[in-house]
Amino acid sequence: MDRPAYAGNKRYYSLYEAMMGRFGRRVMKAGIDVGFTCPNLDGTCGTQGCAFCRNGSSGYGALYGGNHPPLAEQLAVQRERIRQKWPDAGLIAYFQAHTNTYGSPETLKQLYCEALEQEGVCGLSIATRPDALPEPVLEILADLSRQTYLTVELGLQTIHDETARRFGRGYDTLCFVRAAARLKERGIRVCVHLINGLPGESREQMLASARMVSELGLDGIKIHLLHILKGTRLEADYRTGQVVPMSKESYIDTVVRQIELLPPDMVVERLTGDGMREHLLAPLWSLDKIAVLGGIDRELAFRDTWQGKRYAAGSQGQP
Ligand code: SF4
Repeated sequence: MDRPAYAGNKRYYSLYEAMMGRFGRRVMKAGIDVGFTCPNLDGTCGTQGCAFCRNGSSGYGALYGGNHPPLAEQLAVQRERIRQKWPDAGLIAYFQAHTNTYGSPETLKQLYCEALEQEGVCGLSIATRPDALPEPVLEILADLSRQTYLTVELGLQTIHDETARRFGRGYDTLCFVRAAARLKERGIRVCVHLINGLPGESREQMLASARMVSELGLDGIKIHLLHILKGTRLEADYRTGQVVPMSKESYIDTVVRQIELLPPDMVVERLTGDGMREHLLAPLWSLDKIAVLGGIDRELAFRDTWQGKRYAAGSQGQP
């Protein structure tokens, strides 16, 4: 397959390019935490949460230190921060912390609509779990997606149920596949999250996850590195040597191979983590995000490869 002409000499379809194409200007995500919980924490399907979860996040921690200022205030703070750097930027209100479809339909609708009314907001991203999408919520999301640029971000992390059982995900991969299909049937954009470096997973298993999600007709992907955070269940396993973080070289190699497997038009929303240094135990190399992204770009160029080079719908090329 020929190399597509991605913007900025990139070898993958970046979120920046997708936003420029859709809105004609830079549009940034503004993360908000409106105080939802999670069925994997409140006892509905579990109380311990995912082993890497710190305050409702597989990133470095809760937004706003776990406080929940009013939604309008949170977006105003984010708008100010973003516009200091990019004065004309639009905002995607990103319901980020915990499970953002886990509430009554009335409350959800009110919060989503309130976010859309804030100055500069031109779309919504809603992060959730596939087991928290009942029919009334799907209807609200379908309505919203007709009105605005809506993306539902679904955690999957891995397609391998054995790995998922080990870290306590609380649903099986079939649940994800069905939820993604129900969203897509309603014309709703879906972005899947994967995590590389989960305990016990080989590189081949991580590639198999990328290969399978490439077959589902999804719109976007976020690829994360497993972060070992203070105060999580993973911390003890890390300290006893049972969990070994990925090396930078191995992570870059895996991500490059995953990018090759993705459909050329799937938006690559993230290729590394972000967050506060004080919560991170390992791997510390991930703090230098620019070096990680630069390493991925360099490796793609060195191998003369790109997003979709090994993608073939229905018959994926082997890595
Ligand atoms: S689904 Fe998200 S919020 Fe819930 S336990 Fe797992 S990482 Fe935490």
